[in-house]
Amino acid sequence: MIVFVLEKVVKYIGLTSVDVEYLALIRRLESWNIICRRNFSRGVRNVDRVRFGKTEMFVSKIAFGGIPIQRLNVTEAVEVVHGVIGLGVNFIDTANGYTDSEEKIGLAIKDMPRHELVLASKSGARDKKTFFEHLDMSLARLGVDYIDLYQLHGVSDKSYEAVFGDNGAYEGLAEAVKAGKVRFPAFSSHNIRLALQIMRDGKFSAVQLPFNFVDDEAAAEAIPLAKELDMGFIAMKPFGGGLLSDAKLSIRYLAQFDSIVPDPGIEKLSEMKEIVQIVESGEKLSAGDAKSIEALKEELGDHWCHRCDYCQPCPQDIAISSVLHIEGMIRRMPYKSVVSFLGQAMETSRNCTGCRQCAGKCPYTLSIPELIKEKQIIWDQYILGYEKSGATIL
Ligand code: SF4
Ligand code: SF4
Repeated sequence: MIVFVLEKVVKYIGLTSVDVEYLALIRRLESWNIICRRNFSRGVRNVDRVRFGKTEMFVSKIAFGGIPIQRLNVTEAVEVVHGVIGLGVNFIDTANGYTDSEEKIGLAIKDMPRHELVLASKSGARDKKTFFEHLDMSLARLGVDYIDLYQLHGVSDKSYEAVFGDNGAYEGLAEAVKAGKVRFPAFSSHNIRLALQIMRDGKFSAVQLPFNFVDDEAAAEAIPLAKELDMGFIAMKPFGGGLLSDAKLSIRYLAQFDSIVPDPGIEKLSEMKEIVQIVESGEKLSAGDAKSIEALKEELGDHWCHRCDYCQPCPQDIAISSVLHIEGMIRRMPYKSVVSFLGQAMETSRNCTGCRQCAGKCPYTLSIPELIKEKQIIWDQYILGYEKSGATIL
């Protein structure tokens, strides 16, 4: 509240460098929990806050990822979002492409003080026109007049040339920041090499990359670079997209990196309660944990796709990493979205000729054509199972 009033006053009288430093100090005090250890307006405890890079925003040490609430009905989803915020999580991340996730979040936050929340969303647009359509849709669905962090979604492949070209999505994002519709520009990617290049260009305040104890490529360069450039870093898929079931192990591993904010997708409030407890316990990774991680990595080693996309391009245009991750998608998304996201990719995967060009480029030496066949069986069973169940398509 103090910060909100100060911001209004400072805006009214015009900013000076002294004002900016004063605000930064207040925000720092918040992060040390001197001022806002408690959220007085709702009487709930706040999860500890961390400074989110050069944005100078202070966000809860854990974010809320909005993918899984697509599977819930509106009442359930609103309850989950309320519960998560009630736990003191102030950082909410969703995407324009996650069907009704933005709308559900918008309904949940409509009576809440906007300045107490840090809202992040994404657009998968590659051109400026579509970018603005997405942004306006995000603003309307969330019911807000600005979004704190708007990310160019999944800049992982050759399409980045369009994103940064004339009339590309990046131009739109830069204009949206100037117009005050977006506070900070950001991007997400699965391709760490490309992400490093984009980060070095200095256009963004924050980046979101996959990071967990199995997908740990970001630890070597991307996390240190984000720190050096003072960029916020969101750890995408902190539990491997739902496939790493030991929450303690996952969080303790991530807690070694003090400059990152894990962004787990949450479907049940109990999941977030458990995560918040682990985060707040401050427990460190033990020697036993490190051994368990090594054992798990070894077990997953030859069939875990890290989504780096180094195996591309495939001569048959197969979206290999999407195909290899169908279980995560099936676990977290409603049937209709799974089919819409993956239906085409799974059909195209049937054109695999077994040429093994991809396998030669995979740094994790995965047997890609064989894995594709396995995923096709899982896919066929999933579709058949759903049809047999006679469930309403959600
Ligand atoms: S083996 Fe299949 S997936 Fe791999 S490059 Fe060849 S056609 Fe593409
Ligand atoms: S199959 Fe290998 S190269 Fe391709 S995305 Fe997965 S881990 Fe990366």
